[in-house]
Formats: sequence, C-alpha cells, structure tokens
Amino acid sequence: MFALVLAASLLTPDPCSDLCSRNAAHYYADLLQRGGYGRLPFEVAAFLIRESDGTLTTEPWPTRKFGHASYRGSIPKGAIAVLHTHPYTAPSPSAYDRAESRRISIPIIVITPMGVEAAYPDGSAGRVTGGAGWVERLTR
Ligand SMILES: [Zn+2]
Repeated sequence: MFALVLAASLLTPDPCSDLCSRNAAHYYADLLQRGGYGRLPFEVAAFLIRESDGTLTTEPWPTRKFGHASYRGSIPKGAIAVLHTHPYTAPSPSAYDRAESRRISIPIIVITPMGVEAAYPDGSAGRVTGGAGWVERLTR
C-alpha cells in the first residue's frame, strides 16, 4: 500500500511546486514593489510562465489600472498562473478571482505585503506563502 501511494505521489505533480518556489517568490516580490506594496489604489499583474526548459518567467500585463488589473488577448503559451497585487486590505482572492480561475483553468495569485494566496481552478483557495517578512524570507 505504501509503495502504491508513493508511486502515485511521484506521478502526480505537486500543484504548489512552481508556485511555492523561490524563483516565483522573486516575481511575487517584484510585482508587489511595482504595485506600491498594496498601499496604492491600483493593481498590477503578470502571467507566470513555465518555459520549455522548466524555468519560470513572467509576462507583465501592459497597463495598471485604478482598482483592478485587466488584460485583453490570449493567454501566453506556458502560462501557469495569473499574478496580481491587491490592496493590503484585501489579501484574499475575490469572488471574481475565483470565478476567473475556474474560467481560464489556471490559478489566480493574489500578492499583498501579508502574503501570497491563490484561487484554484477547482474552486478552492489557499495560502501559497505568507506571514510577516515573507518578502525578505523568500527572496534572500
Ligand atoms: Zn483580485
């Protein structure tokens, strides 16, 4: 039974592996900085992309808008999540974020100074990382 469970866990990719990586944390921190650390009344966003060699990159959305970020166009090849900042007063995915994750079938990541949370395509949501000092802890 143990061998069967172990084999199954090796075949099932960890949904958190890329999203919880140090590489992704650097992109979260960069976006948080460009979004004014959640203190400004606008959001910035980017696609998190897994390149064919396995490295992570981002494709920033071209504009930042008052109150919310928006994007028009097709989802880039290799996109594994949408990253966006929220005001520090709203650290969790909104109902719209959850619905959008289901619609486009990739996680929607919310970045604030308090942490990083995700809405997943299956309708669930949860913390990716967080706590006091997450930027310093994960990017140094
Ligand atoms: Zn949002």
